[in-house]
Amino acid sequence: MSLSQDPQSRLDAILARIEAARKRSVKPAPFTHLIAVSKTHGEAEIEALIMAGQRRFGENRVQEAKTKFAALNPRDSGLELHLIGPLQTNKVRDAVALFDYVHSLDRPKLAHALASERDATGRCPSLFVQVNTGEEAQKSGVAPSLAGELVRLARDELRLPVIGLMCIPPAHEVAAPHFALLASLARELALDGLSMGMSADFETAIAFGATHVRVGSALFGARH
Ligand SMILES: *Cc1c(COP(=O)(O)O)cnc(C)c1O
Repeated sequence: MSLSQDPQSRLDAILARIEAARKRSVKPAPFTHLIAVSKTHGEAEIEALIMAGQRRFGENRVQEAKTKFAALNPRDSGLELHLIGPLQTNKVRDAVALFDYVHSLDRPKLAHALASERDATGRCPSLFVQVNTGEEAQKSGVAPSLAGELVRLARDELRLPVIGLMCIPPAHEVAAPHFALLASLARELALDGLSMGMSADFETAIAFGATHVRVGSALFGARH
């Protein structure tokens, strides 16, 4: 993707497309937040987007996020940090300390680790349960048929702040049926949050009620 515009114009263009998609939707979510996915992009590029007014950022890796955002004082600058990649239990401590949201809760062991860290520190990010809607062997996420069980464990038993569901549709499939499935699962489980939609398909995700779209390359250009 070639991006000739400056960061402000790129951000404004994505925000305008989000608004337009919401207006076209029959029943949009009460809000749709833009998460700027900054993985692989450096501090200077992130700062340029902060200057342009962006506050929500998504990263895939705990260590990379920690290194890049340390100098940006995320709390003091009013930034909201989202972990959108898989989380290993040995990284839970660092993840809980840094992130405001984790989109990749996908197994009981991780729910228990987050609950222990919450009990020890009094802190816990808001959580999305990641659902493997395409049932792909290599992809993380709980199978759709087991999502309810994981939500009940995390939210109802462990009292974790589970606010929604997240999915990444298979790369070479039409995304709409995956967004529809995630939205219907969320309704069944009485969850309001829907983290779905990336650069190529965020407008479709909004039509199915996305509350959080995760946009990387359309904002920052191709990944380094
Ligand atoms: C990288 C990534 C994105 C952003 O993808 P783009 O296609 O660059 O917008 C969104 N969600 C997840 C989980 C990602 O890993």
